[in-house]
Formats: sequence, structure tokens, C-alpha cells
Amino acid sequence: MNSPVIHNELLRSLSLQDYAAICPFLERVSLKANRVLHHARTPMDYVYFPEDGLVSVLAEVGDGNLIEVWLVGREGMVGTPAILGVTVSRHRRIVHLGGPALRLRVEDLVNAMNDRPSLRARFLQYAHYVLLQTSQIGACNAKHPVEQRLARWILMAADRSAADRLPLTQQTLARMIGVRRATVTRCIAAFDRGGLITTARGSLQVVSRPSLESVACPCYGIMRNQYFQLMGGSRHGGVPYDTGVIRAHEHLVTRAAPGTKQADRESTRSRQPFSD
Ligand SMILES: [Zn+2]
Repeated sequence: MNSPVIHNELLRSLSLQDYAAICPFLERVSLKANRVLHHARTPMDYVYFPEDGLVSVLAEVGDGNLIEVWLVGREGMVGTPAILGVTVSRHRRIVHLGGPALRLRVEDLVNAMNDRPSLRARFLQYAHYVLLQTSQIGACNAKHPVEQRLARWILMAADRSAADRLPLTQQTLARMIGVRRATVTRCIAAFDRGGLITTARGSLQVVSRPSLESVACPCYGIMRNQYFQLMGGSRHGGVPYDTGVIRAHEHLVTRAAPGTKQADRESTRSRQPFSD
């Protein structure tokens, strides 16, 4: 790892010792929009920890159509099934908004979790969080009207990316929440007129978060509370580590003791920082 600064909040929430177990194996990559990270029914080589941008998890619904079932940004990890020992993806994971990320080989993740029960427990807690969130989205899709779901989706996307301006087309939004484009166009126009968002060609920006939250269904608040309760912290609520601690920690982990599993793995793999 070159940079001492970690922006992914799941990584930042790890204890120093747990982070030390995976830090030597993390690689910085730049994820380009529309890149497919995992194909359905295909082995996953890496999991990804976004530092900016958004990754969509898409489920097949027949006739070649895909619907978003989960959205990952810098709060989480792309490739949750790997935590549960599942290495073949059942979903397609595609970069929605490009940005920097850290990636980790699935085998290194599994080895580190086997070595450190506390790391396994933390990642299992994250998997539990994802299960809760995706089931909430399922309930939301069955219960709440499109306008409320769209407001919830925009807030979730803004929470998970580094900026409030989201380069999202209305066609993309329609595909993500599984409704007709004309329906999204009508809702977006109403949000714009109401001063909740502003739109430009191919993008939108959150102007009034409180107003958008008042339109969103209760699922947004439920899901946000689940995040704070299970995962702790966010860019709106503070972070466990400061830059100095991370830097000191990286100094620590570059000196793995000879003969340890960590040192053995470090010596057998050459790093390609900033590769893609
Ligand atoms: Zn809802």
C-alpha cells in the first residue's frame, strides 16, 4: 500500500490488529464506470473496498433484465458472499460511479479471517448488516410508492459516495429501481421544482437533504440506523481512526515478523499498487 490514508469506512472500523492482518495484501485500484467486477455464476478473485464512487449489485429477473438489489460505496465491501465462504458470485456487480478502491484477493481475505476470529466476527457483522439492508429494500419495493423509493435511493447513493453531485441519468435511475423512465422523469421534475435537488444533463445534486428525507419512505431512516447500530460511524458521524493512527499502523505492519504466516505471504507475492 502506498497511501497511508484509508477512506473506506469498513476498513477504518477494524481494530489495528485486524487491519494489520490484511493491510499488506490490499492493492489500490481505480475503478472505471461500467466495469463489471463480478459476473454472475463466475468465481470472484477479489473483493473491493470502495473509497469513492458506487458499485451496484444486480440480480437477474429474466429476459436479460437486471434490477439493483444493493448499492455499495465507501461504507462497505463489494463481494460479501466471500465472507460467508461463497466464492462464486450469483449476482453481477458493476461500477456505477467510478472512483478509487482497495482490493483484496478472496484467498487472502479467507486466510486472514481464519487467522483472526475477531476479523471474521467483524466481517460477519458486516454480512449481517447487508442481509438486513437488502431485506429492507425488498420490503420497501413491495410496499412504498416510487416517489418515496426514489428519494430513498438518491439519499443512499449520496451517503455512499464522496460528493452530493451524482452523475446519474434518469434512464439509469429507472433501471436501478425497476420502473419506467417516464415515471422517474415525473418524480425528478417534482423534486427539482420543490428545491430538493437540482438537475443538469446526466447528473443531479442534492440541495436540501432534510426535504429529501421528508419525502423518502421510513426505510431510509431504518436502514441508516441499522448502519450506525451495527457498523458504527459514517462520514456524517465521525470515524474511528485519524490519519496519524493509520500511518503509524502502516509503519507497524510493514515489519511482519519473519516466519509468520503474514511474512510468508508478503514474501511470495509481488504487489502492483495502483494497478487495475
Ligand atoms: Zn421504503
